[in-house]
Amino acid sequence: MVSRTVTKQQVRKRSPAPNADAAELAKFQALAARWWDPGSEFRPLHEINPLRLEWIDRLATLSGKRVLDVGCGGGILSESMAARGARVTGIDLGEKSLRVAELHGLESGVDVSYEMIAAEALAEREAQAFDVVCCMEMLEHVPDPGSVVRACATLARPGGWVFFSTINRNPKSFLFAIVGAEYVLGLLPRGTHEFEKFIKPSELLAEARAAGLEIGEMRGMTYNPLTRQYLLVDDDVSVNYLVACRKPAH
Ligand code: SAH
Repeated sequence: MVSRTVTKQQVRKRSPAPNADAAELAKFQALAARWWDPGSEFRPLHEINPLRLEWIDRLATLSGKRVLDVGCGGGILSESMAARGARVTGIDLGEKSLRVAELHGLESGVDVSYEMIAAEALAEREAQAFDVVCCMEMLEHVPDPGSVVRACATLARPGGWVFFSTINRNPKSFLFAIVGAEYVLGLLPRGTHEFEKFIKPSELLAEARAAGLEIGEMRGMTYNPLTRQYLLVDDDVSVNYLVACRKPAH
């Protein structure tokens, strides 16, 4: 017990930012070369991307907007938003992932600017600079998700949009997102997610409201293993879910 605690503290010390978990970042760094392989561990992100992109674009109208993608990884969502005409900045603390994102952008000719910086640090430098802030599938990997939520709220301009997605915390989400996705179906590598870090919608909404955001739409995302299809639904947020918030305009 004691040695485990010490190890965790040591790992935290080496983290590149106060609100980051080096072990979490390492998981994604280890896979970084495969971000753009649609058959890889990142397949689920490739498959859900058109769904979340459509939803974001319908609400926020991406074309011409200044957009920030927090925890952008290899840039799957960032590039797709840029392809819709947004001016996109992607930030992450995974250096290899950012390099892969940059290289892919050169190949695809889709222009995104990437930076290795924590959301909290960027919020100090560029408060209210973005029309749209997205933070997808990232909050469940950070030690203090509330701090990221507050940073995202600060980064959005008054009247701007802030989008989050994460995983609910209940027996069903344990069964589906961990046992099912990692152990039975093998959609994700084992150890990708830690149950204790999952976030209930009530918790995320409370953090968003405390950060001064208004809650707009909420969607669940379901996966049917038989048809291998993901869907956005409006009546089931029991496992994966997305929230659209607005920063009041005044
Ligand atoms: N948002 C992307 C990638 C999700 S994977 C998408 O949905 O397609 C989670 C990402 O969060 C990884 O790229 C990981 O490096 C990043 N991440 C984890 N902790 C972070 C932190 N504290 N700050 C910034 N990025 C972080």
